[in-house]
Amino acid sequence: MTIIERRRFLLTATALAASSAFSGFALAQTQPAAPKIKIDDKSVLIVVDVQNCFLPGGSLAVGKGEEVIPIINRLAKSFVNVVMTQDWHTPGHVSFASSHAGKKPFEMIKLPYGDQVLWPDHCVQGTDGALIHKDINIPHAQLVIRKGFRKTVDSYSAFREADRKTVTGLSAYLKSRGLTRVFVTGLATDFCVAWTAMDARREAFEVSVIEDACRGIDTQGSLAKAWDAMKKAGVKRIQSGDLAV
Ligand SMILES: [Zn+2]
Repeated sequence: MTIIERRRFLLTATALAASSAFSGFALAQTQPAAPKIKIDDKSVLIVVDVQNCFLPGGSLAVGKGEEVIPIINRLAKSFVNVVMTQDWHTPGHVSFASSHAGKKPFEMIKLPYGDQVLWPDHCVQGTDGALIHKDINIPHAQLVIRKGFRKTVDSYSAFREADRKTVTGLSAYLKSRGLTRVFVTGLATDFCVAWTAMDARREAFEVSVIEDACRGIDTQGSLAKAWDAMKKAGVKRIQSGDLAV
């Protein structure tokens, strides 16, 4: 190799090394993966409304709702603290389309406390449809909060009813147990999960919604709107794989 050839070889080798070191590919390889979120004794898993009515064959089935069950069961094994919720309506509940002459499910009406989406009859107290699905396997869950049990007020949120005044007691329960980090899963993302997560933020909890452990109804753009509102409220959007379980 002549001196000129040798110099050209060295320059080329240097340029190659430099370009690979600064390429996005090289950076992606060298950046450490984000650390997994640790579940501690201040963490609580909230499993929202995984009830027969909201699952395939139910009167208000959420598309692919059954897919959350194995994910939630697996996650729950890593949580010492688990709370479940149950939609729990009276017959003839104000949120049922059948309670309003001439109205159909998914129409909106005005009630004294604000706008209300009308639903097919669902989760009537004491019926099979209101039971938590048999495949949910979380025997160590400590509390089941029943909500929407007043005939004239709905409650998507596990914390505060739709009149935005009446509380369920969940906030006080969690605070008195020293639980400050809330992880929300279940059905449906754009209603009971979103309202629960945003109310938890209002109550000053640290809140994450585990997206792949939830499924949405998505009526009239409700799913995108809910994620937007949750983001504004400071709710973290995470995946089950982000957790150290
Ligand atoms: Zn309901």
